[in-house]
Amino acid sequence: MTDSYRHKGLRKKLVDIITQKGIKDQRILDAIGKVPRHYFMDSGFIEFAYRDQAFPIGSGQTISQPYTVAFQTELLQVEKHNKILEIGTGSGYQCAILLELGAKVYTIERQRELFLKSRALLIKMSYKPYFYYGDGYKGLPNNAPFDKILITAGAPETPKELLKQLKVGGRMVVPVGGSSGQVMISVDRLSEDEYKESEHGYFSFVPMLKGKQ
Ligand code: SAH
Repeated sequence: MTDSYRHKGLRKKLVDIITQKGIKDQRILDAIGKVPRHYFMDSGFIEFAYRDQAFPIGSGQTISQPYTVAFQTELLQVEKHNKILEIGTGSGYQCAILLELGAKVYTIERQRELFLKSRALLIKMSYKPYFYYGDGYKGLPNNAPFDKILITAGAPETPKELLKQLKVGGRMVVPVGGSSGQVMISVDRLSEDEYKESEHGYFSFVPMLKGKQ
């Protein structure tokens, strides 16, 4: 794994593109500028790593588009030391961005191969999230409550079990919809039994599936 001046230059251009698309939080732009996205993709796809596009990562899954990663992260309003649950580790890239912001991250992946691959990579890069292989719909009741919950796969509806694992005052970000696209939703937990939802435009994610593989 090498991170050359060329990679750094390509990353700087990517940050410019994402800035033009409307991402304002400088901490997020700095994180995108810092994390070598090409490590999260197979070698040979370096050019693609720094385009603002999603890309296949094996097991029928994708690494999210950098703009989408930045958008979800901004919407999550991450603060240093936030305890965050991420559903869908995938390549591990989004997880690395959250860790760069100083969050404590619990990440779940249902595909065994991806779980093993991204765990090995993140450890090699000296990132230290808590890794779980399992079904994100169940969340992590033993580690709840979380300040923030980030779902990086398209859910048919807001997962009820996960809403219970959100702190009062906390926020969940989840793309809700079917295979043709999803609406980005933020859910704020206002009190023990009050939640407030807002919509933030259309996106396209791979589906959030039940069980593990
Ligand atoms: N955050 C990832 C995005 C990966 S795509 C990244 O930065 O690369 C979404 C991921 O969610 C896929 O890896 C998919 O296997 C996973 N996934 C889908 N349903 C899930 C579930 N119920 N629990 C955990 N992970 C799930």
